Amino acid sequence: MPMLSYPIRCTNGACTDLAQYKIAARWSDGVTRELKTYALSCSRCLTESFQRSRGKQAACRLAPGETLESPSIYEMSRGRRDAQLVRREDLELPLLAPTPIA
Ligand SMILES: [Zn+2]
Repeated sequence: MPMLSYPIRCTNGACTDLAQYKIAARWSDGVTRELKTYALSCSRCLTESFQRSRGKQAACRLAPGETLESPSIYEMSRGRRDAQLVRREDLELPLLAPTPIA
């Protein structure tokens, strides 16, 4: 894949901010493994994008032998491939909590 040379925008609705995060889940059919991208998000839309991605993942039907993990938040960096993306578990955990910590 060629390096992206144009700005990557948030995919949330009409938002035109630059995307800072990729929301993606690890998918595998037992042979191939890849990162399935659900959304690209700016920091402002992150909560909404993450929740929506989790909803999409939950609704996804898998073929026998396929596995799909829950979506995770990855920090986007220019020129980095999926395998090199930095996961931001610290950003996921507050969003996964049943009641937000005030
Ligand atoms: Zn946004």
